[in-house]
Amino acid sequence: MSGTVRSILALGSNLGESRDTLSLAVADLVDSTNVRLREVSPIVQTKAVGGPEQPDYLNMVIEIETDLGPYELLEHCQAVENKHHRVRSVRWGPRTLDVDIITYGDLVSDDEKLTLPHPRAAERAFVLQPWAWMDGTATLSGRPVAELVQQAEDLPGLVPFEGA
Ligand code: ATP
Ligand code: MG
Ligand code: MG
Repeated sequence: MSGTVRSILALGSNLGESRDTLSLAVADLVDSTNVRLREVSPIVQTKAVGGPEQPDYLNMVIEIETDLGPYELLEHCQAVENKHHRVRSVRWGPRTLDVDIITYGDLVSDDEKLTLPHPRAAERAFVLQPWAWMDGTATLSGRPVAELVQQAEDLPGLVPFEGA
């Protein structure tokens, strides 16, 4: 019905074995005939933004191509979060895995259940920097991601992840 759409997904983790969780989550996200992996960003280590005092995050983005509709993709992402024991307690609190849909093709939606593009992506270095490193030509709502990242307040708290 929806045909093939490219989508950017952002993954984050700051509880448990975050590095392993990210790898396993990418594998789980693309372990479906309806989702194909196109590109993977480097992993970055970032200071938590907002929410309570909590451990640093590991963040990354991937580009996929999918036959799933937007809400089907959201369900798929939430199923992968749940598989990795995500518990929803404090808003913006620590979590084993967060998977957000940053873009779904050119779709624009202001539905609270699925807002597209992701409403806070344009100001988050932890999304924009790995994305720009993955794809130097990427744009978000018509603006170059590599330029948006320079204005992100959380950029100073971000470093490439040097772990294994
Ligand atoms: P933030 O949205 O600021 O990154 P969060 O990722 O911690 O916060 P969650 O608890 O993961 O927030 O998600 C809360 C709700 O956000 C979800 O139940 C989902 O329906 C909704 N949501 C709206 N737009 C999106 C989107 N683009 N991607 C993922 N979830 C979304
Ligand atoms: Mg999030
Ligand atoms: Mg989320």
